Amino acid sequence: MRFRWLNSALCVALVALQTAPVQGEVTGNDLPDFGDSSGALVSPAQERELGAEFMRSVRAQAKLVTDPDVEGYVNQLGSRLVANSDAPGYPFTFFVVDNPAINAFAGPGGYIGVHTGLILAAANESELAGVMAHEIAHVTQRHLLRAYESANQMSLPTAAGMIAAILLGIAGSNPEAGIAAMSAVQGASIQQQLNFTRSNEREADRIGIQTLAHSGIDPYGMPNFFERLQQSTRLYGNNFPEFLLTHPVTTDRIAESMSRAESYGHGKEVDSLDFGLIRARLRALGADSPPEVLKYFKALEAKPDAGAPEHYGLALALWRNSDYAAAAKELQALLDKDPDRKIYRTTMARLALDSGQPEQALKLYEDTLKLYPGDLIVGQYYTSALIQAGKAGQAREQALKMLRDKRARTAEIYELWAKAASVAGPAWETNVASGEAYYLYGNLRFAIDQLNKALQHKGLSDYDQARIEARLKEFRQALKNREQHEQQ
Ligand SMILES: [Zn+2]
Repeated sequence: MRFRWLNSALCVALVALQTAPVQGEVTGNDLPDFGDSSGALVSPAQERELGAEFMRSVRAQAKLVTDPDVEGYVNQLGSRLVANSDAPGYPFTFFVVDNPAINAFAGPGGYIGVHTGLILAAANESELAGVMAHEIAHVTQRHLLRAYESANQMSLPTAAGMIAAILLGIAGSNPEAGIAAMSAVQGASIQQQLNFTRSNEREADRIGIQTLAHSGIDPYGMPNFFERLQQSTRLYGNNFPEFLLTHPVTTDRIAESMSRAESYGHGKEVDSLDFGLIRARLRALGADSPPEVLKYFKALEAKPDAGAPEHYGLALALWRNSDYAAAAKELQALLDKDPDRKIYRTTMARLALDSGQPEQALKLYEDTLKLYPGDLIVGQYYTSALIQAGKAGQAREQALKMLRDKRARTAEIYELWAKAASVAGPAWETNVASGEAYYLYGNLRFAIDQLNKALQHKGLSDYDQARIEARLKEFRQALKNREQHEQQ
């Protein structure tokens, strides 16, 4: 499955960067110091550095889903779980990997990856949340430390690249991952330590189920999903769920997590309509053939039990076949029943934009922002639409407003700022914004080059100049660290 719309429908191609995946940062950069039960040598600062390098490596090796609605949904669910976990202050980042294999994984520094295959295989939100809560617990319980310590024996970029390749399930198949240069012994050692022990698994289940219950999500989601995985393994053949390789599921373990869930009782019914809508979105926008996906959703919608997700999927399928009028009609029917639902509103605005009604689109985004002040998904769409509508000045204001929020400091928002500033801002701003985007993609030399260019512009205020210089120093330090590692 590849996300066709990334090139056309939803993402405006902005600065010419190589690839465009980015994660949404959940919280700030301040990593709390954990009590370190294992006597590990990995400090929070080292773990953070390893995490940042890991994420750059993931971006280089895997295709991430950067659709704001999908990314926003997973981060929203993840933040809700983290807030009710045993380490609510830990800075987690959730991202979606465009991969049909059923998998989720926890990397260093609180980076949690969820495959599209997992979202599509889960029957409801509590099952997806169950796996995410389990991964969150691996991080908060420091289960990855042993692997970090093995990684500590090698250079940081190599270690990060290797952990990424192993967790993404592409180790050995990707020479770019630096695996070829690695000693097989070191690789095997990390691989082994990324496979959690039975006691780690049990602890992650126990704490994860507690997190689910505290979040008001049905704690049965976790055992139910494990059961589904176990039952389905014989159906998968070569597509054996990767999740089971690092998190073996046994009958004992299912029984134990089931009785744990029983001790909390079923959670109160939560509205997981967004889950159904996101799944429909993944299917409709991720399918290779627009006519096929239209056929698929038309058949689903004709069934007597068709609900909002099926209608939403049909609307998106019609949109992918450029039938804007029919798509708008489907969506309007959904909006009439549920007028405040964010994803309906952003989709409708997008339709208006694509069918040549930019004013109507902007109005809908503005109204939606009044309903959800400071919302990053809507804000990102709105900024992009302003640029498309030729309102670069307003787009620049909007981007700058968003960037005051730490969570908005993603490569995508920086790219929008760069694009808007290139038309409506002082010349140096485009360089600064592009530099920040390159930095997030791990292209440190390009990032430094952009900031150097920014400093050459005349008319910089002392304040801006000092800020850029300080940032340049950080970028150079990061590059120096990397080069030192490379020479080792
Ligand atoms: Zn596990």
